[in-house]
Amino acid sequence: MESFPVTGLEHSPLAWEPLAPRTTWRMGGPARWLVQPVDLAELAGLLAGLARLEDGPPHEQLPWVVLGGGSNLLVDDAGYPGVVIDLTRGCGSLVRQGATILAGAGVTTRALAHFARREGLTGAEFLAGIPGTIGGALRMNAGAYGGDMARMLEQAEVMDPRGERHRRTPEQLGMGYRTCNLPADWLFTGAEFRLTPGDPQAIRQRMRELNQRRRQSQPLEFPSAGSVFKNPPGTQAWRLIREAGLAGVRRGRAEISERHCNFFINRGGARAADMMALMAQARAAVRQRTGVVLEPEVRLLGGPGWVLLESPASSPDRAGG
Ligand SMILES: Cc1cc2nc3c(=O)[nH]c(=O)nc-3n(C[C@H](O)[C@H](O)[C@H](O)COP(=O)(O)OP(=O)(O)OC[C@H]3O[C@@H](n4cnc5c(N)ncnc54)[C@H](O)[C@@H]3O)c2cc1C
Repeated sequence: MESFPVTGLEHSPLAWEPLAPRTTWRMGGPARWLVQPVDLAELAGLLAGLARLEDGPPHEQLPWVVLGGGSNLLVDDAGYPGVVIDLTRGCGSLVRQGATILAGAGVTTRALAHFARREGLTGAEFLAGIPGTIGGALRMNAGAYGGDMARMLEQAEVMDPRGERHRRTPEQLGMGYRTCNLPADWLFTGAEFRLTPGDPQAIRQRMRELNQRRRQSQPLEFPSAGSVFKNPPGTQAWRLIREAGLAGVRRGRAEISERHCNFFINRGGARAADMMALMAQARAAVRQRTGVVLEPEVRLLGGPGWVLLESPASSPDRAGG
């Protein structure tokens, strides 16, 4: 059996690890390797080891990508032929310092939101209904109901592909609507968030209200990845898809939700290829009707099938690696 090319890891990398259970869409094939570094030193060694392979023959090189909560990822049915890095073990700390919270990139956004509530700190309520991890939320500049990561971020801790650590402010990261400019081969390891002292009861109430609004407007009973496309300037993707007559349209077990036409749901057993075909169909119909080119918000992890959606505008949205 082929062995993992980087040594010195405390936990053996998992070979051909299924990724579907690690995504909220519950679709897609396995990772060639899945690695869970135990701390930042091990993560740095892993990245440096993978970078060294780039000096060798092409067939020995391995692409890598970080997996957060898998809540914004479409994984190819054939899986991912490289190394998927899971930071939940090595970047899992959550600490308060005054009105600041220090969170590891592998901490879930919900854990951060509820930690802030218990500590009587306001400003992170919008995160309570957003699945995933701090690292994924920073990469996506996740946001909802008027809040986003950039607003509460003081500084992010990042690692470059050689394993060197750096700090970055939101301005340096150029955080915008569902985007930031951290290079694809760098990763977030943690962040400092500045919040404001508040009343825990009022914070809880605000979270409840926001989650209630979500339940009313989103098909949360089905696996999804949230909004599939970004909202184009001045309009909403769900509206354009609905006006194109696509509410409820299906490909196999993949369906455009009637309740929220920018949520594409897995009705059980959907294939990533079906989801991609639905995305291509929606994109083509909206473009034909309005001239607007919808840009995917979900990140695409995997192989050649994705050319269906590729364009110079959407290519930076591929997951890293
Ligand atoms: C029901 C539902 C509701 C949602 N509602 C919202 C919403 O209101 N607002 C919103 O913005 N999003 C929403 N989303 C989308 C999703 O939850 C967010 O984009 C989330 O922040 C993604 O985080 P993740 O950890 O799951 O990232 P993943 O899906 O695992 O990864 C997303 C991208 O981030 C990269 N990444 C992950 N971790 C790191 C890291 N440590 N360093 C560098 N890159 C990293 C990955 O490589 C990938 O490119 C929703 C999703 C669902 C399923």
